[in-house]
Amino acid sequence: MSVQPRRATRSASATDTVRLYGVGFGYASTHRALRDVNLTLPAGSFHFLTGPSGAGKSTLLKLLTLQARPDVGTLHLFGEDATMAPRKALPDFRRRIGVVFQDFRLLDHLSVFDNVALPLRLAGGRQIDYAADVGEMLDWVDLGDRMDDLPPSLSGGEKQRLAIARAVVAGPDLILADEPTGSVDAKMGERLLKLFQSLNRLGATVLIASHDEALAERSGARILRLEGGRLTGGEA
Ligand code: ADP
Repeated sequence: MSVQPRRATRSASATDTVRLYGVGFGYASTHRALRDVNLTLPAGSFHFLTGPSGAGKSTLLKLLTLQARPDVGTLHLFGEDATMAPRKALPDFRRRIGVVFQDFRLLDHLSVFDNVALPLRLAGGRQIDYAADVGEMLDWVDLGDRMDDLPPSLSGGEKQRLAIARAVVAGPDLILADEPTGSVDAKMGERLLKLFQSLNRLGATVLIASHDEALAERSGARILRLEGGRLTGGEA
């Protein structure tokens, strides 16, 4: 994974990538998964989001990927108010966000190559143009020799690396990862962390949700802590 991706991430602008003001969210009226969250992720920043299971980490990522909307408060993405963005505006926001889901969400009927190529294909790219980028990204996550395999034949750690390759191949401005080292051993966890750090150096804003406090500490990144739906530390 020492190879650097050829296509650089779009350089970050001076605008904050994420701003949350007084954000709350509940799945049911009696239970608040997030309460009065104020958060700024400056362009080009790298943060870990930690907290115990059930603290609201995944819910916060759901708001940032616009899979759910805040009940109260406002959400700005890339300098634009996305709180009530209409459905037709969502693809423009999402194109700029690479997401590593906790459950990977790979397409089992598509090859490893085609899973990674999908974001580029959906953006209108032609295989002749993106094939080298996909190959390079797969080499970067040590899956270069598994291109033609289907995801069900991969181990948990390999699926995780594939999900990361797919999330970052299009050079997103914002990378959100939910427990991206949950299925790999400590050594691979460190390597994946380096990968996120390299993408951050290329300009991407990165937020990694993880209960692995030790990894977060070692990363040197700023650490945000969620507890019971509230940010209790590291509010920017
Ligand atoms: P974390 O990612 O930190 O483990 P979550 O964001 O998954 O936390 O969960 C925050 C709270 O919201 C928890 O109390 C959890 O039970 C609840 N929750 C999460 N997803 C749902 C859901 N789909 N329906 C109802 N409650 C949910």
